[in-house]
Amino acid sequence: MLGLMQEWPLLCHKILDHAANWHGTREVVSRSVEGPIHRTNYADVRGRALTFAQRLEREGVGQGDRVATMAWNTWRHLECWYGIMGIGAIYHTLNPRLFPEQLVWIMNDAEDCMLFVDLTFLPLVEKIAPKVPSLRKIVVLTDRQHMPETPLANVACYEEWLAEVDGDFAWKQFDEQTAAGMCYTSGTTGDPKGVVYSHRSNVLHAMATLFPDVAGISSSDSLMPVVPLFHANAWATAFSTPMAGASLVLPGPGLDGKSIYEMLTREKVTLTLAVPTVWLMLLQYMEREGGSLPDLDRVVIGGSAVPKAMIEAFQNRYGVKVRHGWGMTEMSPIGTISMLRPEHADLPEPDRLDVIAKQGLPFFTVEMKVTDDANKALPHDGKTFGRLKVRGPAVAASYYKGRSPEQFDNESWFDTGDVAHIDREGYMQVTDRSKDVIKSGGEWISSIELENLAVGHPDVAEAAVIGVPHPKWTERPLLVVVLKPDRQVEKADILDYMRPKVARWWMPDDVVFVQAIPHTATGKILKTELRQTMRDYKLP
Ligand code: ADP
Repeated sequence: MLGLMQEWPLLCHKILDHAANWHGTREVVSRSVEGPIHRTNYADVRGRALTFAQRLEREGVGQGDRVATMAWNTWRHLECWYGIMGIGAIYHTLNPRLFPEQLVWIMNDAEDCMLFVDLTFLPLVEKIAPKVPSLRKIVVLTDRQHMPETPLANVACYEEWLAEVDGDFAWKQFDEQTAAGMCYTSGTTGDPKGVVYSHRSNVLHAMATLFPDVAGISSSDSLMPVVPLFHANAWATAFSTPMAGASLVLPGPGLDGKSIYEMLTREKVTLTLAVPTVWLMLLQYMEREGGSLPDLDRVVIGGSAVPKAMIEAFQNRYGVKVRHGWGMTEMSPIGTISMLRPEHADLPEPDRLDVIAKQGLPFFTVEMKVTDDANKALPHDGKTFGRLKVRGPAVAASYYKGRSPEQFDNESWFDTGDVAHIDREGYMQVTDRSKDVIKSGGEWISSIELENLAVGHPDVAEAAVIGVPHPKWTERPLLVVVLKPDRQVEKADILDYMRPKVARWWMPDDVVFVQAIPHTATGKILKTELRQTMRDYKLP
């Protein structure tokens, strides 16, 4: 017998309707690309998103069409997203930090028919657009006053383009499994792969992130996603924030320490999210200039492992709670969150830090296991590491065009490519990407753990550990370090600092000082390039 309850497809635009109807005056504040702070609210965002949808339909765009955006987090980008999804078309976020050739490849793979672009990226688009034959029109996200000259054909000015219709429009209705959005993985190995979210997966994932033990978002919050919409859906915040009726603060192009500090304090942000590199900039700014964060209650940090020194700085110096998240584009993207449980209340401070520094627990909708190469589940003993696999309603079932089928098994488990262990309490800890793990004498050494340890040294700004060939042990760890400005320190100082905290055979064989460490388009250490740079290096 089937239940006798209503069919209510989980469609993304219902989120914006809810926010507009019941939290309509709640603010959406953005730092605009043109400069000034812009203030609107959910009722007006919905109005403009409907106008956008109507105008997009007049452009001949319909269900299933891919519409690209290359834009900062602003109210305009938000209304584009909802407008695109509201007619069943698919938003496709482009990461402007990718190489132009990668962007051309991705846009051709997705066959984007239109592109909405911020002023900042127009020079980049002028280079790539002529190589994307499917692109029929480019709309620059600005008003007439700021509209620049461009040699591109078929370009429109956003505010004028939008004003060509009256906004008298209703969302389209369709199945909740309809594609809503698309995002490519960064492709540090091989070609990027497209992940295609559905309306249902976006809604369910956003709901799950509201749980108190995930981001715990409520209508009392003022939330600032510093993580861009083009980095894995800004971690669901474009959906979760209006769903909760919280105010939304969008940092636009201002991602440096000073700009972030200004937005956090001026807009009384209570919850913010970004990758560790962003927080490093904020903390360095505050260390230099002083300041406090009286309204900020918690910060979600993920995308790369959070160094303990960063958790300590937020908690002890500024009274801000850290929630360490792990996830990936393929998971919509949040998979686990690490935070303290009541049973940790009496632990000594260093042990509490150890808990938060793990990647944490899955929440309802995420299933997770660690297996050996033969797919046998490994024990939750906090030390046996293997392949991390996940499944759930917001986890990719396959990549666009069926790429890399080997990552999905016939029981729907997705192989994340991460190497991890799970402890007795269920906390997962990522020890490496499978391609970055260092194999020394047949045993694995975790590069992430060594990096986190090294950045605890007071003079170290950033650290990366890679494996280098060794005649006896196959590979040994090499520590690559960027020092904080104006600091001088000997290799031995850093190694002496690390020695008491790590197994002897894990100790790096050498330390190399560099000016900068290469990063991926989403701020992670780009180990492929680092290994390439270090290819002629010989261990002492
Ligand atoms: P991209 O490579 O495009 O940035 P993702 O943002 O989806 O793609 O990256 C996902 C990967 O980032 C994960 O598989 C994992 O290796 C790494 N990662 C994400 N969060 C964490 C974390 N908290 N700790 C360690 N690694 C993380």
